Amino acid sequence: MNLLRTVASRALPRLSGPSVRHFSAAAVPVPNTQPEVHYNKLFINNEWQDATSGKTFPTINPSTGEVICQVAEANQADVNKAVKAARDAFRFGSPWRRMDASHRGLLLSRLADAIERDAAYLAELETLDNGKPFAVAYTVDLPFVVKVLRYYAGWADKCEGKTIPIDGDYFCYTRHEPVGVCGQIIPWNFPLLMQAWKLGPALATGNTVVMKVAEQTPLTALYVASLIKEVGFPDGVVNILPGMGSTAGAAIAGHMDVDKVAFTGSTEVGHLIQQASGSSNLKKVTLELGGKSPNIVLSDANMEEAVEQSHLALFFNQGQCCCAGSRTYVQADIYDEFVERSVERARQRVVGNPFDLKTEQGPQVDQEQFNKILGYISSGKREGAKLMCGGGVAADRGYFIQPTVFGDVQDDMTIAREEIFGPVMQIFKFKTLEEAITRANDTKYGLAAAVFTKDIDKAHYVSNGLRAGTVWINCYNVFGVQAPFGGYKASGFGRELGEYGLESYTEVKTVTIKVPQKNS
Ligand code: NAD
Ligand code: MG
Repeated sequence: MNLLRTVASRALPRLSGPSVRHFSAAAVPVPNTQPEVHYNKLFINNEWQDATSGKTFPTINPSTGEVICQVAEANQADVNKAVKAARDAFRFGSPWRRMDASHRGLLLSRLADAIERDAAYLAELETLDNGKPFAVAYTVDLPFVVKVLRYYAGWADKCEGKTIPIDGDYFCYTRHEPVGVCGQIIPWNFPLLMQAWKLGPALATGNTVVMKVAEQTPLTALYVASLIKEVGFPDGVVNILPGMGSTAGAAIAGHMDVDKVAFTGSTEVGHLIQQASGSSNLKKVTLELGGKSPNIVLSDANMEEAVEQSHLALFFNQGQCCCAGSRTYVQADIYDEFVERSVERARQRVVGNPFDLKTEQGPQVDQEQFNKILGYISSGKREGAKLMCGGGVAADRGYFIQPTVFGDVQDDMTIAREEIFGPVMQIFKFKTLEEAITRANDTKYGLAAAVFTKDIDKAHYVSNGLRAGTVWINCYNVFGVQAPFGGYKASGFGRELGEYGLESYTEVKTVTIKVPQKNS
């Protein structure tokens, strides 16, 4: 699925593929701008519970800055409860452990069906809590969520081991067994998608889950929890906790009875998660962290395509993408034209009410991100980058920021090195391919990269030289549920999606049986 193409067609996104046909442009419903919130408590052992402390926190509508509702705030005691429920659900001989693998797949498949049934409501709630345009939530996020769950539903009874011809009179085989209780800590930029990316492989392979959702966007994950119960997952298999990172999140990362933790978020917290594993029980860790992904445009590229894709590479999802193409390197002989067209495109970007179907860009997720991004824009100006458009606040309330483009960016500037996570594009000039590759790799990150060119030899050469987990050629943000995604270097380790995504959710057990060779 090409995330960008779907939002690129201004009229309204279109998706291909039989399973998402009914999500096509013609079918985008008029959203209810005030969806009701049905669930705001902790989901433990298939029950709704208040926090042990009785504490709650407000979740905010980023379009207005107003409180949507209060949500129960999990702390260490609630994490303990959830881990206990998940451990119990995982005990040898439990309903979940005894369930046929094919039936696990069926439950995942039913969950996908239930989400598809309630897609419009879920997209409304996502827009309310996160600020992303409803048209995008409905035509990009929701169909992808459904696809991920269906894809992993199919894997449930296909995780096969091997028979291995070891020396001696033995029969040796491997079993792919679930790891156990999996802690999953997810961010706010794609709340439903990140939930599905994490639940799909964990449940297909028979694990149990304690998930902490982001404090900025807890609402859709809790609604999905109600669907998990509705479709019949046994008690304790999935537990969902809204709460803060430094309390609930840290309690999961350091828990002695959690077997694995999967984290998506900032590199800073990634370090803490890894340390918490090291100082507790050495739980397995997978990390999907930040990026400062290079997007290299060669002078022979199709200019129109390169400008549009580079625009969306950065601005998609309000710039809040871990794989955002946030360093646009443009070859010297087309640099001026490229900058001019990119500025023109950014100026046309429709910013506003995310429930309006014409809106391309909604608000940033919260005040903190809003302030941080404005701080980066100031640093760009201060350090001498050329502000070509935008640079300011885009509305008198809510967290809206103007689409911003900086030209003449130098590699050592703060905006060239740090993840901005907002609608701020950095354009750099380069001369030779070698130079582009060296500069592109001069970062601690390695999540994604792209190259635009009509020359297949150059495309392969640059692609091979880039140290990144994903390389797009003449496209950007193309994700397939079947293809792995993850980072090199400080962008993390482990892969999500595809068959590779199953690896970190299984332990390999080697079973060796003596086979007597004589009948005695
Ligand atoms: P974050 O890393 O703090 O939050 C991500 C998740 O981790 C949330 O659920 C949070 O509650 C949890 N968390 C925070 N501290 C924790 C701790 N000590 N132990 C365990 N869990 C903890 O990210 P943020 O503060 O929301 O955003 C800051 C920056 O992170 C952004 O500007 C962006 O650069 C980056 N980010 C990256 C992604 C991504 O997709 N890779 C997503 C969100 C944010
Ligand atoms: Mg919110």
